[in-house]
Amino acid sequence: MRTVLKFGGTSVASPAALARVAEITKATKGERVVVVSATAGTTDTLIAAARAAEHGDVQKAQDSLAELAEAHKNLVADALGFESADVLKEIGDLTERTDALLQSVAILRECTARTMDAIVSYGERISAPIVAAVLDHHGVKAEALSAEGLIITDDQFGHANPILDETKARAAQELAPRLSYGSVPVVTGFIGSTAEGVTTTLGRGGSDFSAAVLAAAVTANELRIYTDVSGVMSADPRVVKDAKPLATLSYAEAAELSYFGAKVIHPRTVLPAVEAGIPVRILNTFAPSDRGTTITAASGNDGTVVKATTSIGSLGLITVQGAGMSGIPGFAARVFDTTAAEGISVMMISQSSSENSICLVVPDEATERLRGALERMFNAELRRHDVERIAVEKPVAIVAAVGEGMRGTPGVASRVFGALGKAGVNVVAIAQGSSELNISLVVMERDREKAVRLIHEEFHR
Ligand code: ADP
Ligand code: ASP
Ligand code: MG
Repeated sequence: MRTVLKFGGTSVASPAALARVAEITKATKGERVVVVSATAGTTDTLIAAARAAEHGDVQKAQDSLAELAEAHKNLVADALGFESADVLKEIGDLTERTDALLQSVAILRECTARTMDAIVSYGERISAPIVAAVLDHHGVKAEALSAEGLIITDDQFGHANPILDETKARAAQELAPRLSYGSVPVVTGFIGSTAEGVTTTLGRGGSDFSAAVLAAAVTANELRIYTDVSGVMSADPRVVKDAKPLATLSYAEAAELSYFGAKVIHPRTVLPAVEAGIPVRILNTFAPSDRGTTITAASGNDGTVVKATTSIGSLGLITVQGAGMSGIPGFAARVFDTTAAEGISVMMISQSSSENSICLVVPDEATERLRGALERMFNAELRRHDVERIAVEKPVAIVAAVGEGMRGTPGVASRVFGALGKAGVNVVAIAQGSSELNISLVVMERDREKAVRLIHEEFHR
């Protein structure tokens, strides 16, 4: 039996949480690989520090790094009840190196994606030795290991893609011997390196992805993602008080949910696990005996229609509208050429059947830039009034209702819109994925939470 256990930011951020991590790892039989996130909030702080340095405020950047170092030194001392010279030295060395990086950023006034990855890797690189020391202290033989040189990725800094074959080969060298000696490798989540050894990161929330890649690389029997809620819930528990944990979720549902903002799992996490046929369980560090959510290839038919409702905010809606657009081939292609040329990812599209308008939903901060680019692209059409306007509405949010049970169930959309309409929530745009397992709609940001609650209430009474 081989299990990969991943512990998220809040699960490693306090002495009490670390004690739970040790208990859970101890209670897991067989070979174990532990993957850890940075402590909650640390990655955000590091990004902010790098930005401050980039803007020339090196003092602010160095101060927040020093605060992080101090907090982690206190954390490990409190968790162990004594000062571990080894861990303190490790934190000291890493802090020094990161401080030097921040100074270089301040001098150059530039922080490339590559440099940012090197800076943010600090979070996971200091949490892994802390967790390993706590495990050791609880009688679990453990060793911290950086995923640099282990999870091999391409060089898309900031959102690198793991190369599974390479990672498998490295795992056979680095992890397999440790496992056979009964030692628990505590691997940094979120980060990896190119084959040449340059540090990369897998994107925000990427520790889940790291864990899935490693699970596939060591052909684990199970991947367990421990977080601060008892599984994937029918809605974000911070928004909907009576959201319930879902017992099962199909890979497809999990992917839709994470795409539309359910922060609990990382979108691409599901992929390496699906391909390797490894069951994924989302469990609660603070209530480890709760059943949690099992994500599997096929969803058992549990009779639900909409399984979960989720939302993603801080977006902008751009509408390209005009009577002269209908029937012109290649029109949509030019719209998407423009988004691609600007490097803007499109969250959602919808085109009315009359072909009179195309709506795009993009991140808020990209909206104005895209409007400008579209105006240049359709300059001639705008002058001829073939395109009447390129309008922007923001901030908006996408609200998505997800569930395999929606497929072939008539009347789901009308229940969704009925529930919103009765409560006076205006739907700005609609899109249904061709998969029929999600209905997503755009509302103004101010209506976002209300819309989630209304849809949840409609289907989960
Ligand atoms: P971790 O640091 O453990 O990876 P995250 O903060 O990334 O934890 O994800 C867990 C959080 O996701 C929960 O605390 C919860 O507030 C939020 N969340 C959003 N949508 C959902 C959902 N549908 N089910 C469960 N949690 C959700
Ligand atoms: N620490 C990283 C982040 O905050 C990765 C993770 O926690 O999964 O995005
Ligand atoms: Mg997470």
